[in-house]
Amino acid sequence: MAKVEVASGDAAEAGRDFIRDIVKADLDAGKIKGVVTRFPPEPNGYLHIGHAKSICLNFGIAEELGGRCHLRFDDTNPVKEEQEYIDAIKRDVRWLGFDWGKNLFHASDYFEQLYTWAEDLIRAGKAYVDDQTQDEMRVNRGTLTEPGKNSPFRDRSIEENLDLFRRMHAGEFPNGARVLRAKIDMTSGNINLRDPVMYRILNAPHPRTGTTWKIYPSYDYAHGQSDAIEHITHSVCTLEFEDHRPLYDWFIQNLKVPSQPHQYEFARLNLTYTVLSKRVLTLLVRDGHVKGWDDPRMPTLAGLRRRGVPPAAIRDFVKRIGVAKANSVVDVGMFEFSVREALNKSALRRMAVLKPLKIVIENYPEGQVEDLDAVNHPDNPAAGSRKIKFSREIFIEQDDFMEKPPKKFFRLSPGMEVRLRYAYFITCKEVKKNAKGEVVELRCTYDPATKGGNAPDGRKVKATIHWVSMAHSVRAEVRVYNPLFIKPNTDVQNFAADLNPNSLEVLSNARLETAIAEGNSQEPVQFERNGYFCMDRDSAPGKLVFNRTIGLRDTFAKEVAKG
Ligand code: ATP
Ligand code: MG
Repeated sequence: MAKVEVASGDAAEAGRDFIRDIVKADLDAGKIKGVVTRFPPEPNGYLHIGHAKSICLNFGIAEELGGRCHLRFDDTNPVKEEQEYIDAIKRDVRWLGFDWGKNLFHASDYFEQLYTWAEDLIRAGKAYVDDQTQDEMRVNRGTLTEPGKNSPFRDRSIEENLDLFRRMHAGEFPNGARVLRAKIDMTSGNINLRDPVMYRILNAPHPRTGTTWKIYPSYDYAHGQSDAIEHITHSVCTLEFEDHRPLYDWFIQNLKVPSQPHQYEFARLNLTYTVLSKRVLTLLVRDGHVKGWDDPRMPTLAGLRRRGVPPAAIRDFVKRIGVAKANSVVDVGMFEFSVREALNKSALRRMAVLKPLKIVIENYPEGQVEDLDAVNHPDNPAAGSRKIKFSREIFIEQDDFMEKPPKKFFRLSPGMEVRLRYAYFITCKEVKKNAKGEVVELRCTYDPATKGGNAPDGRKVKATIHWVSMAHSVRAEVRVYNPLFIKPNTDVQNFAADLNPNSLEVLSNARLETAIAEGNSQEPVQFERNGYFCMDRDSAPGKLVFNRTIGLRDTFAKEVAKG
């Protein structure tokens, strides 16, 4: 099952890991004057929590060690990239708490320079135009166990290569007709060195360079050279690029680039019950499995933000898991821990009933309304208190009542007495049902002597439940989110089979104490005993919508323990 990767407490505290150690050693040895890192997203989707790990690492190193971190859009494939994604990525990096300042770049800024260097390679006899079809190239590339075969076009003259490459650039050939390849070694044990593609013909307009380019550079060619142009000292990426490093170095060695960056690899974030493949996330949006990139069920930063996860929780989580060299899967429970930690500190406490059950308190005077004191945060007296209204008709949670309770159920049931939080003890006298036999109302009595929640005669109740006054509460829709996938490790090839049909529960009839609607709508709030919530942007005048960010743990177990 899921293996948890955790940096030792001390290392995480000090923000230490093998990448930071390398950077510090290079600074100490005087190999570099200052550290320069970059975060290089491809604008073909929204950022997710895996990207957050990379962002925190790259921007974090620069911040801690007095360097700088560039935001560079790897915009080399105009067919898949969009301005919407560029805007979203900037918004999300800022929201996470990082700032690239003036250092905003695009790989497309370097198209001209990359082209010039490609011609240099041709002139040095180290690149050639290949006319093989894609299939022929694939077959001739060989396999992990078999060497590749040289292309019949590999020994073209420099003049012919230059001529063909210029004509590719000029748009003389259809998409896919030819490619430019680096001439390295078709028998290399590392497939990445078997004459990798540097340029493809692609007649597609680019959001930034328009129709200037008919050929676009590959990631392997564009990436390291972009690093060199920007004087990146430590090019930090995920492990799947480890085998690309010899190629990264080959280009740097064989081109007259202005600096000598080095690539370092760390383990990407994998989370249980969470798919972090951009391809799958794109399909979830495109096929309507979710309501958009910022659907609160999505692991995207936009989704987490809308769900109410504070950016500090994400940074804290990334710090706790640390940076390792071996791939592993982190339990999503660790992420939830960080979310609860952050929200527990900041969220004010309120009362809200998600699935209301009406109670009439028969001996409470009709028309009477009382103001009761309720604290805003149990651990933070400075957060103060508020008044909540109590009256004869209230709502409690349907789940807090059972007509025929099992042994350990101490909440309300016929004849049972419980405490209403901040109010009185009540006892259930009668259960009213509809024609279908469903409980629709409880008739109770209250003990006026228990105001504030304690009985002068010292008698105890085993449960405290929350409530709202019917006439002094507001209706809201509450959206409760469950994991999007039912298996801890979803098979990304067949992800649709693992989708959780109950990932979204809509409770359209929740009732909130009025302070919630009056409060600052942007702040997270704890609905006592129910979890942490935030107002959704679907809210409109007269229509409140709240998202459950995350539940509290083990409310039932806690109550049992209280005794
Ligand atoms: P793809 O390249 O398949 O479109 P990607 O998730 O790698 O998807 P990029 O835009 O290339 O997307 O990612 C930008 C940076 O974020 C890269 O340096 C990449 O290594 C890093 N990154 C992506 N996914 C993760 C992850 N799960 N954990 C840590 N870093 C990640
Ligand atoms: Mg990538």
